[in-house]
Amino acid sequence: MLGTASTINVGVLMRIAAALIVAGTLSLGTAAAALAQTPASTPGTAAVPAPAAPSAGSAKPACANPDALGIGRVVEIDPTGGPGFGFEHFKQLDFLRDKEVVLTFDDGPWPGNTPAVLKALADECTTGIFFAIGKHATYHPEILRQVAAAGHTIGAHTWSHANLNGKKMTEQLAKDEIEKGFSAVKWALGAAPAPFFRFPALQHPPALVSYLGTRNIAMFSCDVDSFDFKARSSQQVIDTVMKKLDRLGKGIILMHDFQKHTAEALPELLRRLKAGGYKVVQMKPKFPVETLAQYDEELMKSAKLPTISTRPVSSVVKTISE
Ligand SMILES: [Zn+2]
Repeated sequence: MLGTASTINVGVLMRIAAALIVAGTLSLGTAAAALAQTPASTPGTAAVPAPAAPSAGSAKPACANPDALGIGRVVEIDPTGGPGFGFEHFKQLDFLRDKEVVLTFDDGPWPGNTPAVLKALADECTTGIFFAIGKHATYHPEILRQVAAAGHTIGAHTWSHANLNGKKMTEQLAKDEIEKGFSAVKWALGAAPAPFFRFPALQHPPALVSYLGTRNIAMFSCDVDSFDFKARSSQQVIDTVMKKLDRLGKGIILMHDFQKHTAEALPELLRRLKAGGYKVVQMKPKFPVETLAQYDEELMKSAKLPTISTRPVSSVVKTISE
């Protein structure tokens, strides 16, 4: 068991220090409270609409694929204090059971590849978390809205994918990257996304880990890095993921909906997950991110973006399972 922050030498490796700062912000009680669980629908059966909330008008459509991977479990994340997930950097919250996976996709939205990823997920009646790049969200807001309409969870991955641990990066510039990224995703969706964040290149400066804690934004590293951006074929993506996953037995899988090989690999990869007895866990936030007005306004000014979406949240983000 990890000690409290006060018992730990924080002069150790950056990634360990980052994790420990999170430990310092979470008591064991709050760690347990960061996760709540709701039952998921079984593939092939229509969900019963919640009796008190018919207004969404969106009972989960029956899954047309009787052999679909589906969704094994839905968990709700309380982002208070900025919990960290993914054992490559954050080792406090071991919530996945054996054979459970979380599918995560970075760097979108992007034409072609993101829609292909959405189709593969829909064909298997399953879901993932999309960590969108703010700039890309402003280029292709309609694609990000498709991600939301399909019921996936959407978080942010900075404004321009800057390395927040880079030599020329200052703490203020890094905060700008984080906040502008969330504001851009919110602009594209017309509604605040999940307070879920992934650091570019999995670089976790401790000061920013602390900052996200104060912003009640959960951080996502990973357990299984697909290295799909380096893969020379879709088969290589599948082989890398399955090999690592079979060794670990479970985990948060990092992929990129931005990458063509990943889009091509996903149908087969999802079939392999199903065949291997893996179950997908859907992660949803207890509450959406609170963007900062200053960045919402700056974004509109600097990017000269029109107000494109005045639709109510319920018409943009559909409840698939609860
Ligand atoms: Zn990225």
